[in-house]
Amino acid sequence: MKKKILALLLSLALVLPFIGGLTVPAEAAGNKLIAITFDDGPGNYTGSLLDGLASRGVPATFFMCGANGSYGVKNYNSLLTRMVAEGHQLANHSWGHPTFSKISGSEMQSQINQVGSYLTRAMGGSYNYLVRIPGGENNATIRANVAHPIITWSVDPVDWKYHNADTVYNNIMKNAADGSIILLHDIYQTSVQGGLRAIDTLKSQGYEFVTVSELFRRRGIALQNGTVYSSAPNRGTNLPAYSAPSISVNGGNVSVSANNNGVTLHYTTDGTTPTLASPTTNGTISLNSKVTLKVAGFDPFGTRTPVATQQVDANVAEAPSIVSAGNGTVTLRSSTVGSVIRYTTDGSNPTGSSAIAQNGVMTPGKTNKAIATAAGKNPSPVTTFYSTEYGDIFYDVPPTAWYYTFVGSAVNKKLMVGTQDFLFSPAMEMTRAMLVTILYSMEGKPATGNVSPFSDVKNTAWYASPIIWAADKNIVGGIGDGKFAPNTLITRQQVAAIMFKYAIYKGKASDRVDQSSLSRYSDQKQISDYARPAMAWAVNVGLMSGVTSTTLQPQGTCPRAQCATMMVNFDRVINAPEPTAPPTQSPSPSPEAEPDESAEPANTDAPAPSEAPAE
Ligand code: ZN
Repeated sequence: MKKKILALLLSLALVLPFIGGLTVPAEAAGNKLIAITFDDGPGNYTGSLLDGLASRGVPATFFMCGANGSYGVKNYNSLLTRMVAEGHQLANHSWGHPTFSKISGSEMQSQINQVGSYLTRAMGGSYNYLVRIPGGENNATIRANVAHPIITWSVDPVDWKYHNADTVYNNIMKNAADGSIILLHDIYQTSVQGGLRAIDTLKSQGYEFVTVSELFRRRGIALQNGTVYSSAPNRGTNLPAYSAPSISVNGGNVSVSANNNGVTLHYTTDGTTPTLASPTTNGTISLNSKVTLKVAGFDPFGTRTPVATQQVDANVAEAPSIVSAGNGTVTLRSSTVGSVIRYTTDGSNPTGSSAIAQNGVMTPGKTNKAIATAAGKNPSPVTTFYSTEYGDIFYDVPPTAWYYTFVGSAVNKKLMVGTQDFLFSPAMEMTRAMLVTILYSMEGKPATGNVSPFSDVKNTAWYASPIIWAADKNIVGGIGDGKFAPNTLITRQQVAAIMFKYAIYKGKASDRVDQSSLSRYSDQKQISDYARPAMAWAVNVGLMSGVTSTTLQPQGTCPRAQCATMMVNFDRVINAPEPTAPPTQSPSPSPEAEPDESAEPANTDAPAPSEAPAE
């Protein structure tokens, strides 16, 4: 028996959604939205109404008058601040509650604007407040003169007539439905009593109370000025409530994001709830003290998102940075006035009791860490820097790095310099111009002609002299078509080709090269023909030992750390007391200026057979 009833109910449930015009009953709790509104006040009972709403966690919308007898914002202005703080919606019911159909358009505007200035002041800034015309009147003149959304209602318990809490309650319960706007008047005690009872029952039925503008937003309806709205039943759109903004803190730099469309973020640092009067931020806030940060979003109708709160301890000293280094000392400075620099050289993090750098001066070890401390502030973040084996100071060349020794040596021999003060940029990839500039420095920057042989190397470019020199000495030949591509990242085989030519120019290499060493590498077929002798030479003399033990990656790019390694090896080859390979030709440049780096023109005049001793 029971089973049959269940089956019948199930089939009904399946059929119901498909019957046109019928609404599907029993929405899931939380999907039923309803707005409760109070007109004509504030008045004597508004304070106890706010108490009742606060204890229930229910926001309401107050359509308030200016001076409606003794009621209205003029005499109850202080309640508006409380309404704002407690998340209610401040809305407009005209100054003196006139019959709008009997007044002029300009008088309508004046009626609305006078109340509006109170609302705006309480909110801390202008927003698009909702308007309810006295008596719910609506005509073309009203719509043309009220530059705000016009709100009526869908549930009217006629509370002003009955003055009976039970009747108010029963009338609300009879007509309340999803999307309803309930009309009450907070100038009657019976309305407040009946309304709060109805709230309790509707909440127990799964209704979520929202302000009027929230009701429409969450139903996907964008309120338009001069348009009349009375309810927002579920037509398939159910947007979530606003969520609090996100806050992420990095020292004194705070990033905030709204997490909601169409809201403007306002924040405070004094512990108070943000209002429209609070400063706005478009995502970043800079702080320099220990504060309680509160951030809230506001939409155009003045609806405030939940408030995000975060303790931000931004009262930190500025981290020290290197001012100068040399003669075995390093000088550090923090921009924090009166700060003291403390440091370690054993890799441990410095504390308030670590060694003090007098006037910022300290003797570095291989790994150095420093902080700035100052009275009344937290210690700065740690600054870490390193010394090479030769005493050069870098932030980015740690002793644990594979290139530490090579970079130290390359810098010490002045083969390479940092990219900025105390930065080597080991991962920065080299361009073709950069490599030639390094060779030019090794050569002592000789005077050159001043006419570039390449159409893409301007005579005024920073790399013009190095490239003019290298072309003149047949160390570079460009990429073909009269071009050099100075700003193109250099590949490993191009590095080998240019260094090979330079070694030949210096009489330290022969262009007859034993290429058998290339067979050790699984990717040797990727080497362009023109670069094979150069790559073989580079392997034979220990300039390149492969990126792994079986790969040369000839087409790979060349980070500065790799370049430093090659340069140190190259320097050893160039400055070797004896030629590494007996020159079989005159050390002068070979007669034809063959393109040395281009992948295209292969060096077809027979790479020399491997008679030449490689060692
Ligand atoms: Zn009214």
